[in-house]
Amino acid sequence: MLTNDQLDKWDRESFFHPSTHLAQHARGESPNRIVTGGQGVFIEDRDGNKLLDAFAGLYCVNVGYGRTEIADAIAEQAKELAYYHAYVGHGTEASITLAHMVLERAPDHMSKVYFGLSGSDANETNIKLVWYYNNILNRPEKKKIISRWRGYHGSGLMTGSLTGLELFHKKFDLPLSQVIHTEAPYYFRRPDAAMSEEAFTAYCASELEQLIEREGPDTIAAFIGEPVLGTGGIVPPPKGYWEAIQRVLAKYDILLIADEVVTGFGRLGSMFGSDHYGMKPDLITIAKGLTSAYAPLSGTIVSDKMWKVLEQGTDENGPIGHGWTYSAHPIGAAAGVANLELIDKLGLVANAGMVGKYLNDQMRAAIGEHANVGDIRGEGMLCAVEFVKDRDARTFFEASEKVGAKLARALVERGVIGRAMPQGDILGFAPPLCLTKDEADRIVAVTADAVKATLG
Ligand code: PMP
Repeated sequence: MLTNDQLDKWDRESFFHPSTHLAQHARGESPNRIVTGGQGVFIEDRDGNKLLDAFAGLYCVNVGYGRTEIADAIAEQAKELAYYHAYVGHGTEASITLAHMVLERAPDHMSKVYFGLSGSDANETNIKLVWYYNNILNRPEKKKIISRWRGYHGSGLMTGSLTGLELFHKKFDLPLSQVIHTEAPYYFRRPDAAMSEEAFTAYCASELEQLIEREGPDTIAAFIGEPVLGTGGIVPPPKGYWEAIQRVLAKYDILLIADEVVTGFGRLGSMFGSDHYGMKPDLITIAKGLTSAYAPLSGTIVSDKMWKVLEQGTDENGPIGHGWTYSAHPIGAAAGVANLELIDKLGLVANAGMVGKYLNDQMRAAIGEHANVGDIRGEGMLCAVEFVKDRDARTFFEASEKVGAKLARALVERGVIGRAMPQGDILGFAPPLCLTKDEADRIVAVTADAVKATLG
């Protein structure tokens, strides 16, 4: 077996890590945790640390680590048939079964599932389908996509453009010109402290409508949004938000894409965020929770309304010119089937709602009154704590103070993994959906201790 020192050397010499400060990492200034195992909500590393992973990897290991049911399904599929493609009508029992299972769980008006590999490629598929749809309907000008500041939709060229976080644009020549951004539904950071939640919702809807009018409604094809903003800060929408937004979209005949990469398959305590908030999307993006990340698999769920037009398109133009070699990969599909069965068997959607609420309530009780805690918010098994310099004035720390990163480090030193969200001093928690109340208590106690040690 290689020594830790050898692995560390090779890592810094050879491995291009995503979302990493490349220069610091090469100089050995950033941590290099080599993860070796996981069970339930815990992971272990080569140094013998056992950490409670309160972010479920990247909010994806929804059923928790070490589920042999999924591992066995993957192994069986690999032995029987590791790969066949899904082009020109081919499939496998696993991919067909999974498509059926996804539709059984999706909102009623959804019609078909296209499978990809990552949330990013699924959103690329979405945008291509939106453009194809409008071309078939003879609306060649209706192509722009509206996303929200602080939305996260991936880091490809188009999806990185949709992502409304500066870091993902800077020096990459993004966003592309077809993408425009509107107000984030972020009540805590509302423009005027005196604004009620309802007034803020009306403001977001009005900002959207003004943007559409300014750009020209005939040029706007779709609006994309996560039911709850994720990477942008874990921000549930203000009251009535989706209702108000959908009213505007309907008025201008603009499609709605619900990016449920984080919220799909139970994280909010409902199977889909769309059901949770009364959204009626034309496309739904799924990934993470589809396989609980036991294998890479994503999907685009297409509504009846769009499907009819896509079919018409192929009658006019021939087969749809879109597909990946690994679309509907049998190993990912087998993992997905076993994962969705496990979510049902263990009652994880209900558990996410119940223990998630407990986690949020306990977090509020423990640190809600701390002088530097500005906001504690969440929905289902999502919780965020936003830190401020001054609660009453709602002023923020300088980015250079790196308060969020320091807090995340203090948590890890105490055995819990939370995430410093990329924009603002926000600690995010998105544990596996199987979290118990005892484990929630541990997250809260460790957070309180880390806050005290870091901020007093
Ligand atoms: N959409 C959302 C809402 C996400 O949170 C993410 C990933 N965090 C993506 C899309 C992109 O998924 P991936 O990283 O698998 O490309």
